[in-house]
Amino acid sequence: MAEDSSNDLCREDFDAGPSSYDEIEPNLYLGNLTAATDIKWLKETKITHILTVDSCPLPRKVQILPNVNLKFIQITDMPREDFLIHFEDSYQFINYALQDGGKVLVHCYFGVSRSATLVIAYIMKKHEMNYDDAFEFVKAKRRFVGPNPGFIAQLKLYETMGWTINTQDVQFKLYRLQIAADKVRKAKILPSSFADLIKPDPSLATVRPEPTVYRCKKCRRIVASASNLLPHSPQEKQVWRYVSVRKQEMRSKQMKALEEVEKAKKEDKSTEICTKTYFIEPLAWMPDIMHNVEGKLNCPKCETKLGSYSWVSGCQCPCGTKIAPAFYLIPSKVDWSNAVQNVV
Ligand SMILES: [Zn+2]
Ligand SMILES: [Zn+2]
Repeated sequence: MAEDSSNDLCREDFDAGPSSYDEIEPNLYLGNLTAATDIKWLKETKITHILTVDSCPLPRKVQILPNVNLKFIQITDMPREDFLIHFEDSYQFINYALQDGGKVLVHCYFGVSRSATLVIAYIMKKHEMNYDDAFEFVKAKRRFVGPNPGFIAQLKLYETMGWTINTQDVQFKLYRLQIAADKVRKAKILPSSFADLIKPDPSLATVRPEPTVYRCKKCRRIVASASNLLPHSPQEKQVWRYVSVRKQEMRSKQMKALEEVEKAKKEDKSTEICTKTYFIEPLAWMPDIMHNVEGKLNCPKCETKLGSYSWVSGCQCPCGTKIAPAFYLIPSKVDWSNAVQNVV
């Protein structure tokens, strides 16, 4: 590449090994950085679209190629990177290119983890496949694909949400809370881009208030709605990324059956949901949760202590399950009630 030696030192000067690429589906290629910077190969293969997922963008010699559309996603190959938010965009980019008769190269540095994750996500959505089948599908074409464990968990979450982003999904809520907690750990403040995690005060809900709510036992103020609950099973290892798909499915069923659980609790039946601690989403009535790492949660009306929160260390339920970050209510301090019955 002597012709480019006058360029500044950039990513192409580091060695990603020999050019390596594989055609996963007709006109969809998965490869490494060397392939993505091999001008001769790009021209010969008639690549029209390049999706780069790496820590830096492609060198100028590729950027100036005529008739080649580029998309760049900046991400490192770390399990805790928020990769899921890019799955839909990437799908659209690949899908549009292929439908338009183009040829797409998806690449990262080695063509093993990051770019493979995006191609697997694409295959999953296109063929409505589960993660395992999509992984085998891609691996059959490129034998060294291997998303890191965090990316695998995100792909499985994508699958359980029906190959889209469902902001109401309990697992998705836990996932985003954990991404946010990482930011709080580093910056000691919740970035404003995560402000949507803090849900509206359920006591102020005027449009379609939820029928079932938790109230402060002392003053009866509504402090949480049923949909704010993040249910857990006894002794569950409640770290979203280690939860198997099967358990995720179980939890969404549990969520639907929440009223059954409260009934069962009254009748003293054992259930699959632990009710020793009520983990909930962060809510607008909770004071200073954007600016503090941990603190108490007092009733906004009567000041009784109802629970606590901790972005970083989380909370261990008496059943053994640990949740981090954790926003929780102590069951003896609140009552489960039907809002419609209580509001006259
Ligand atoms: Zn109160
Ligand atoms: Zn528990």
